[in-house]
Amino acid sequence: MSERDDQYDPQHAVATDKGRYYCDPVSGEMLISVTNTLDQHAIDALAPAAAKVTAEWMMDNLPAALRAAADPDDLVEFVKLAKGQYRQAWDKKAELGSRVHHQAEAINLGAPIAPDPEAEPFVDSYRKFLADYGITRRDIIAAECTVLNRELGYGGTSDIWVKLRFDADTSPLIPKYKPRKVPADPLPTPSGLWLIDIKTSQTKPASAMYDDFVMQLAALRNATVALVCPPECRFGDAQGHDDSHEFTVPEFVGAAILNLRTDTYGFIPVPADAAAFEAFRGLLPLARYVHGLELRGCKPIQPPTATRREAA
Ligand SMILES: [Zn+2]
Repeated sequence: MSERDDQYDPQHAVATDKGRYYCDPVSGEMLISVTNTLDQHAIDALAPAAAKVTAEWMMDNLPAALRAAADPDDLVEFVKLAKGQYRQAWDKKAELGSRVHHQAEAINLGAPIAPDPEAEPFVDSYRKFLADYGITRRDIIAAECTVLNRELGYGGTSDIWVKLRFDADTSPLIPKYKPRKVPADPLPTPSGLWLIDIKTSQTKPASAMYDDFVMQLAALRNATVALVCPPECRFGDAQGHDDSHEFTVPEFVGAAILNLRTDTYGFIPVPADAAAFEAFRGLLPLARYVHGLELRGCKPIQPPTATRREAA
């Protein structure tokens, strides 16, 4: 059911027909990924986003749409093509996102980065974030780290663990992002080790925030083991894996989303607390059940009268 992810995917990540899992290098057990689990939580914004991509593609291909409308067979083909557009657009976005992640990781490690004109503006925003928050490479404790919670049976990739220093226990919001309908309280910003997840988008504002981000950070924060495996031990239940590749996930004083945009960034502290973790944990049995459910044989049966006739 599985195939090995390519070398740029996180350590021990496995692409399955039920989404991403992590293969525990010790037990060989498959642990569901945090984001795969969160896919069980329906996100209202997804359908409108897909509809927007489809509508835009239709407008770009209006003459072809009109021609196709004249012939039933062409129409079927055209609709099929149109239906596939949002998936292609999203895959392209995800691919750009992972390129930005790898460039950011290279900066964290002080490694050289290959030129990537499309990723460059996002990487510039990342550099701006590092400069604005006075972050040096010494402050970055881990980057792109695979983390597991063996007890609860999930795994994930945490982007950055970084030591941040703030002058006060809370920080005010940037004025232009202040909400109108709720009080704009300053957000808690304790100094210490922070867990940060990077999000890239070419269209959403730097203030974009979704409820699954909160649960994602809570899940990563409550992972217990971090893996730092050498290249020969990147995949699955690797033979060469030993205790020296594992260490305990530290306590974080805060968790945040770092929205990278082509012209700016938004650093948003997030309440990834016990309640968020409890909500995430609630999705685990649901994901496990749904992924294990076999419904292909569940089809309409023949009525009793028909089976009686056959027996006669
Ligand atoms: Zn290992």
